[in-house]
Amino acid sequence: MGQNTHKAVIAVLAETLPGERRVALVPADIGKLAQYDIVVEAGAGLNAGFVDEDYSAAGGKILARAEAIAVADLVLAVRAPDFAGFAPGKVVISLGGRDAAVADAAAKAQIVHLGMERLPRITRAQSMDVLSSQASIAGYSAVLEGARHLDTLLPMMTTAAGIVRPAKMIALGAGVAGLQALATARRLGAVTYGFDVREAAREQVESLGAEFVFPDVPDAKAEGTGGYAAAQSDDQQFRLRRALTEALSRTNLIITSAQIPDRVAPILIDEETIAAMLPGTVIVDMAAETGGNVTITKPDQIVRHGRVTVIGPTNLPSCAPTDSSRLYSGNMRTLLTHLCKAGPLNLQAGDEILDALAGDQALPARAAS
Ligand code: NAD
Repeated sequence: MGQNTHKAVIAVLAETLPGERRVALVPADIGKLAQYDIVVEAGAGLNAGFVDEDYSAAGGKILARAEAIAVADLVLAVRAPDFAGFAPGKVVISLGGRDAAVADAAAKAQIVHLGMERLPRITRAQSMDVLSSQASIAGYSAVLEGARHLDTLLPMMTTAAGIVRPAKMIALGAGVAGLQALATARRLGAVTYGFDVREAAREQVESLGAEFVFPDVPDAKAEGTGGYAAAQSDDQQFRLRRALTEALSRTNLIITSAQIPDRVAPILIDEETIAAMLPGTVIVDMAAETGGNVTITKPDQIVRHGRVTVIGPTNLPSCAPTDSSRLYSGNMRTLLTHLCKAGPLNLQAGDEILDALAGDQALPARAAS
């Protein structure tokens, strides 16, 4: 197929991780990638709402998994697939770019893994940024999950039977996910507050109608490079926790999303803070997958501590798999267009975006001829 047409072949795989409902490429983007031949594993889009017929109608060819992998030059997935059965030299594009086990497996299988978390956060690459697109959906979904666990309402309601006071919501960590959580909670009627160790987040929090909370402690700020926060010592984190306790003891819904790239998540809430919280408080710990921002978080479990509930969902984008797949796919389409405008695919080093995605792996000179 690729050899006759001189087009590179892309395979879109079905996800195998339990609960992963997204698909890496949606049918609507197939027609916009005419420079590639696209094969799709049978059933790949089902959990996201896209049937095989949609892919065929868009020009994709449906194949069994092993066949799709065998004919592909580039393999697309959301989660890094098991590389067993991949011939050396394949190029895989997926999440997993911060996972050492994925890097080891790729090296062993002699394939090149382009990990999407390594995408440089430069203006030119914004439309390929899956971290941002998926974090937006996660922030929105976190508020809905939290609201479902609250025994109270988010909005104010004035009824003949009495007045319901609006809930107070705070986002700890005001990056992409935290800001989207603030916007969502405000739309649902909550009174919103935001905190981040980056002072730059203040303006963004305030632009969403939320109050920026900044504890009066010398260690509260931790600006890093590239727009990211810097890691804090255990002692700094401890002092910050104590300083935040007062604000958290007046809040009903707490969404935590504090992350430092390539590190375990900082601890923002411990049992001492939880003991000071209002009965019925719900905490959604969006950092559960990287250790959690709350000492008692258990990934994908509901933990009750007294009358406080802590939930630690690790795959919030899968709560809205159709839209999260559309956005992930849009990011993939822009990246694939960047990698190959026309003619054969040429993955040579020297391109800022491709080099960052490859990390320290050597790129194949030419994936298709
Ligand atoms: P992230 O997921 O790495 O972290 C989430 C948030 O946690 C960040 O805002 C971070 O400052 C915060 N945080 C870390 N430690 C904390 C602590 N101890 N207490 C409270 N908050 C803490 O971040 P992200 O959402 O990926 O965004 C990071 C930055 O990148 C932001 O400045 C964002 O505006 C920027 N960004 C740039 C682009 C671009 O293309 N230019 C795209 C997306 C995001």
